[in-house]
Amino acid sequence: MTILVVGSVAYDSIETPFGSRRETLGGAATYFSLAASYFAPVQVVAAVGEDFGEEPVKLLRSRGIDLRGLTKLPGETFRWAGRYEFDLNTRTTLETRLGVFATFEPVLPEPYRAPEFLFLANIDPEVQMRVLRQVRRPRLVGCDTMNFWIEGKPQALAAMLAEVDMLVINDSEARELAHQPNLVRAAAAIHAMGPKTLIVKRGEFGAAAFGAAAPFAVPALLLEEVQDPTGAGDSFAGGMMGYLAAHVSGGAITDSAMRRAIAMGCVMASFTVQAFGVDGLLHLTMERIEERFEQFRRLSHLELA
Ligand code: AMP
Repeated sequence: MTILVVGSVAYDSIETPFGSRRETLGGAATYFSLAASYFAPVQVVAAVGEDFGEEPVKLLRSRGIDLRGLTKLPGETFRWAGRYEFDLNTRTTLETRLGVFATFEPVLPEPYRAPEFLFLANIDPEVQMRVLRQVRRPRLVGCDTMNFWIEGKPQALAAMLAEVDMLVINDSEARELAHQPNLVRAAAAIHAMGPKTLIVKRGEFGAAAFGAAAPFAVPALLLEEVQDPTGAGDSFAGGMMGYLAAHVSGGAITDSAMRRAIAMGCVMASFTVQAFGVDGLLHLTMERIEERFEQFRRLSHLELA
């Protein structure tokens, strides 16, 4: 089943304790679609500027990603710069330059208008909403956002959240959105805003899900080498939605399918953080992905006495 994603396609400048990259391919929709492309066909809606090169387009196409919805507009590609501290859990945003996204009015190509799965990756909630308005009701609508939009466009964000099934968000942002330091209470407040399912990304500590079933939490893989956490959250969402699109046919999405999807999200995020930018997502095989999924399963498996 096809996944449609809207979100930033960007040039990122990243500093971590282990190195730095300037103007490397990034963006929420980029990481999401690369991760999801291992499981399902992906269609992207985004805008880039005249400065966007042919190389990144080739790279995304090489993963079979449908770019008919990637519009080149006069102006500059979205730019983001960030720096990570020693433990990689603390990130400071140094710059966010919206460029062509400041005025982007997406118009979806006809073949994009009936996706089974829709992911509104991190970008202006007004852009997310415009995309949502142009599709026939998908089976599952997920979304992400961040402090930049929680603080900058609270009303547009609230309107968008009222119409989605699932929110996938960082723990600090869940607390900020709900005005509530306790995650369990924050989850209840977020359910009241619209999304029936809340997935909280907890960086190096994994993820937690709050929905109709009892809460569910997983660790992150314990990796010896982590280079750059940028895009981990988007790769998580891409792995998770990709898994659902590939494995759930007809009927409801069961709690156990959701749990496996979350585990696959952690697996795809683990590949991303091991290299700079999108490099960790470029040359994977299903065999490596499945091997790591098994490693993940063993990480927290508990035998009864
Ligand atoms: P993550 O590390 O998963 O939070 O995602 C990092 C990616 O999000 C980077 O590639 C950025 O280009 C992108 N990004 C950063 N800030 C924003 C924003 N305000 N809106 C949309 N995308 C953003």
